[in-house]
Amino acid sequence: MQNIDEIENLIKLISKLPGLGPKSAKRIVLKLINNNEKLAKPMAKALSEVCKNITRCNICGSLKPSSIQCNFNKCEVVKKKYNSICVVESIADQWSIESSNIFEGYFHILGGTISSVGQKKEDLLINSLIERVNKDRIDEVILATSATVEGQTTAYYIRDSLKNSKVKISKLGQGLPIGGEIENLDDGTLHLAFKNRTGLDADSD
Ligand SMILES: [Zn+2]
Repeated sequence: MQNIDEIENLIKLISKLPGLGPKSAKRIVLKLINNNEKLAKPMAKALSEVCKNITRCNICGSLKPSSIQCNFNKCEVVKKKYNSICVVESIADQWSIESSNIFEGYFHILGGTISSVGQKKEDLLINSLIERVNKDRIDEVILATSATVEGQTTAYYIRDSLKNSKVKISKLGQGLPIGGEIENLDDGTLHLAFKNRTGLDADSD
C-alpha cells in the first residue's frame, strides 16, 4: 500500500471507532475516496456541523443544539411535561431505553459512574439532578445505572444525595443481569427491569 499521510491519518482515526479495526477502516476510507462528491464531502460537512453545533446540556446531560438553552423548570430539549426522571450513565443508555418505548419521562445523563477512572463526582451532574427533582416537581426518580459495581455505587450515592427531596426513588429490578450494561440489553430485558423496579428506601443498601 502507498504511504500517503492524509490517507494514513484518516485510516488511523476511523479504526478508533467502536467495532472497527484497521482492515474495515481501510475499506471505509477507500469507499469515501471513491465517492468523494456523494459521500466524503457531505459526511465531512455533517461531521463538522455536529462538532460545531451539538453540545451536552450542563443541566440534564442530553445532547442538544448549542442554540437551545435548557432551564431547570423548562426543559427545552423535551417539550412535554413529565413527573419522572430516568437517570442513566450514558447517551447510549438513553437511546436504548428510548427505542424500547418502556419509559415516558425526562432523562438525566450522568456521563459516567462514580468509580470510573478519573471521573469526579462533581462532573456527574448529580447536583443538577437534585435541583431538577425539586424545581420540576418530580414524583419518581428511576435509577437505571448498570448492574456493575460502579453503576450500583452510583445509584446508592444518588439515593443518599436525594434523601431530603422526598421523591420516590426506584432502581431497575429483576431481569437486569449482574454486570449488565443498559445499552447492551435487549428490549424484553429492559421492559422486565423497568416493570420490576424496586423502591430504594433511605436506609436500604
Ligand atoms: Zn437539558
